[in-house]
Amino acid sequence: LLRGGQSHTMLKMSSSADGEYDYDYFVIGAGSGGIASARRAASYGAKVAVVEKARLGGTCVNVGCVPKKVMWNAASIAEMIHDMHHYGFTASKDAVSFDWSFIKTNRDKYVERLNGIYDRNLENSGVTKYLGTASLGSEPNSVVIDIHEGDKTTIKAKHILIATGGYPVFPEGEGIQEHSISSDGFFELEEQPKKAVVVGAGYIAVELAGVLQALGTDTKLVVRKESALREFDEMIKTTLDEEMQRQGIDIYRNTNGLEKITVASDGTKTVHLKNGEVIDGVDTVLVAPGRAPLVEPLNLPAQGVKQDKRGYILADEYSQTNVEGVYALGDVCGKVELTPMAIAAGRRLADRLFGPPEFKDAKVSYDLVPTVVFSHPTIGTIGLTEDQAIAKYGKDNVKTYKSKFANLYYGVWQVEPDEKPKTAMKLICAGEEELVVGLHVIGMGADEMLQGFGIALKMGATKADFDACVAIHPTAAEEFVTMF
Ligand code: FAD
Ligand code: NDP
Repeated sequence: LLRGGQSHTMLKMSSSADGEYDYDYFVIGAGSGGIASARRAASYGAKVAVVEKARLGGTCVNVGCVPKKVMWNAASIAEMIHDMHHYGFTASKDAVSFDWSFIKTNRDKYVERLNGIYDRNLENSGVTKYLGTASLGSEPNSVVIDIHEGDKTTIKAKHILIATGGYPVFPEGEGIQEHSISSDGFFELEEQPKKAVVVGAGYIAVELAGVLQALGTDTKLVVRKESALREFDEMIKTTLDEEMQRQGIDIYRNTNGLEKITVASDGTKTVHLKNGEVIDGVDTVLVAPGRAPLVEPLNLPAQGVKQDKRGYILADEYSQTNVEGVYALGDVCGKVELTPMAIAAGRRLADRLFGPPEFKDAKVSYDLVPTVVFSHPTIGTIGLTEDQAIAKYGKDNVKTYKSKFANLYYGVWQVEPDEKPKTAMKLICAGEEELVVGLHVIGMGADEMLQGFGIALKMGATKADFDACVAIHPTAAEEFVTMF
């Protein structure tokens, strides 16, 4: 039996599992949620193993947050260089160049280093690692592991966690799958696209369109409806739209999506939209219409694990599925598809199953989760949009505070006020006590601004609490405590 990297010395912290079981806890998927849960369980002395079919760290480390943030950093540097003349810096036109393959190589090396760190962390935590593809066995509490070379083994565990994440979907249509890439493909690009079409309207589409445009790719964004991020607060949606256009991203609206992709005689791609518009001369088509749960080949029916109609595994806030001893969390459940959410759910589950008695009811909360879109500029949002607040509390019980301004960074720019990028902020308060139920910001630094406000909202802060906090000057965040 080949167990990648396994060594019995790794079991130093583990107690032996109950006689009939090989492990106390068996985790399928070594991504954000799986690794966090496995290590927390092992820290309590449980005998734990994890199986991974690809690279340790899952989506976030390999094809998600981490390489995306590296590219966002590159794009932010490009923006600074573009802006530098406003601060008195000059450089000849040819003095600055950008080498896509340089950053790709170093980004890949960084990700490989992280893969190694995850490996060592598992080992140091006493978690046994299997490399292979897992599915549920026909017996309760059993998992079948298909080791890459074709060998199969069945193990028995008292508790089984499914944390297998998701995968990017492709729209239907002639030539689309063949001639386009997903976000996974974006991270494989060896050369910078010259002209790219990004199809989609969510986090990934706006983040990657922003990166491409800032780095100098002629970028078109194709949305099905009138704009991107339709589910976000109106202020965020509108400000992002204005900023994307200011940066030169062409937005194709009300397209109903992609019809087909054809290839011209010169090898470039022609993108045909369902509303009849055509974009030609394209070298890269990136599709980001959403993700789906990775449930194949888990064989969920073997143990009767229930899914919703889109295939997501049904699990409650305790990560409990309908089957005793089988748990699920993270993207495969599709509730809040964010790395820290999967990690939090994983740790709470391990606390509950293996922790001290005071954790016997540990569960995760899916409310008031702060989230950032690494667009250009960044977006931070927590809680309800204005529309959602009105629907929940009634129009008369909702009060909003708004602000839109140019960051002091742009103060010295000798351009018309309209040409300066904007920061927009909104606080949404409910009831007489003005409980802050929504906080939204788009603008420079929004990403680093949000975490502390997340704590405040989670603690039930009111507008009066915000007002009672002395501002930090000169920052953009101070606006949140000085609005009236
Ligand atoms: P994953 O991390 O996907 O891990 C699942 C693991 O299970 C994978 O390694 C997979 O190979 C393995 N697996 C699947 N099936 C099997 C099987 N049958 N047997 C064995 N192993 C299996 N979130 C943020 O919070 N911030 C961000 O900035 C951010 N940026 C993102 C950018 C992109 C482009 C994408 C795609 C996602 C981004 N996310 C971000 C979302 C984040 O990556 C996910 O929410 C998070 O990784 C989910 O963790 P998970 O544990 O549920 O699944
Ligand atoms: P999202 O679910 O965020 O957005 C996809 C959007 O694409 C849909 O809302 C829809 O918008 C549009 N769409 C759907 N089908 C089509 C189609 N056929 N053609 C064109 N557009 C279509 O998915 P993403 O893939 O962007 O991201 C998945 C999740 O990963 C996110 O929800 C987020 O949880 C996570 N993530 C987090 C990040 C972060 O934290 N910064 C970064 C990246 C991902 P409409 O209905 O308006 O057309």
